[in-house]
Amino acid sequence: MVDTLKHALLSPSSAYRWLVCPPSARLSEGIPDEESEYAAEGSVAHRLLSVELNKRLDLGIEGVESKVAVTKSRYYNAEMQDYIDKTVNLIEEIKNSIGECHILLDKRLDISRWVPESFGTADVVIASPSTICVIDFKYGQGIRVTAEKNPQTRLYALGAWYEFNDRILFDIDVKVQMIVIQPRLDLISEEYASLGGLMVWAGIAKEKAEQAFAGVGEFNPSAETCQFCAVKATCPSRSETAITIANGEMPELLTVADVASVLPKLEVAQKWIKDVLDWVLEQAVAGVEIPGYALTYGRSNRAFSDSEAVTDALRRAKDIKKADYTEERLLSLASLEKNLGKKRFTELLGEYVVKPQGRPKLTPVSAEVAEVEDV
Ligand code: SF4
Repeated sequence: MVDTLKHALLSPSSAYRWLVCPPSARLSEGIPDEESEYAAEGSVAHRLLSVELNKRLDLGIEGVESKVAVTKSRYYNAEMQDYIDKTVNLIEEIKNSIGECHILLDKRLDISRWVPESFGTADVVIASPSTICVIDFKYGQGIRVTAEKNPQTRLYALGAWYEFNDRILFDIDVKVQMIVIQPRLDLISEEYASLGGLMVWAGIAKEKAEQAFAGVGEFNPSAETCQFCAVKATCPSRSETAITIANGEMPELLTVADVASVLPKLEVAQKWIKDVLDWVLEQAVAGVEIPGYALTYGRSNRAFSDSEAVTDALRRAKDIKKADYTEERLLSLASLEKNLGKKRFTELLGEYVVKPQGRPKLTPVSAEVAEVEDV
């Protein structure tokens, strides 16, 4: 599904990129996002969270759909319900710790005072005279997201301040609490700031946002920044950086220390090469002529076009035994957990679950520190 209307040019969710590489915003403009299966699943989990929070916290917010509507989705299952219940418990605890407060769910927040023509939708906003709290719920489990130095939650917090500023008299020292909950990774991370501190950051972010809106500023390619950029395969700055790295001077015989010092650069070059190769193949498959190359297809294995029709045909054939075309097998651990729900799965099968060591991987020591550097 193509979605071009939902996001502002400078959306909070892509702020980690346009704050670091302002020209990326205009370069990516108009290139539609393809909605992935993961994003569609995440959107159902967010809808379920709103339904359950509205009920649990007795908010009576109009416009929140019925649970029946959400549970009809093909992405809804017992595992999702478990994670949402757990998240609702956490949010209820956070709300109780703040005391008397206003709560908004799935709220579109205006941040255009700092970021031109921009807005963002925060999952949960809690405001009281002593605390401004924004909670960002992430249902994904592929990428670990933390609240520390996270520009998305900082921008939501600014929007939350703006939303309530005419109803609540906030002191400059009021506590700003920014929380990311990622239940499938068992991750809750928080960042705290004073309103004054957040406003200082907002001033710096505003300058970068204005550059990004105008399509100016410095390119700043890196493995993290370019990862989800729409022009990652065709960006001249990224290719120039990667080619410069590849052409770099090296000693005759590399030591471990030499290799360690160029690893981050190799990662930039490696990812760029993969992105360019993927992109050019996509072009060729779409019918674009690639000078000097022809599109060919590798060996493939035969497969059934319609498994249900095959099963029906076999079932109807009187001379074929069921054992000749089916096998009884245990579902995967993930599928069983999904079908049984986390609680029942743990009760029944928890003692048999082991976690072998994963494939070895070198991770930069600084990677756990923060998603995005200060601007
Ligand atoms: S690919 Fe990287 S360097 Fe190029 S515009 Fe995108 S984020 Fe910036």
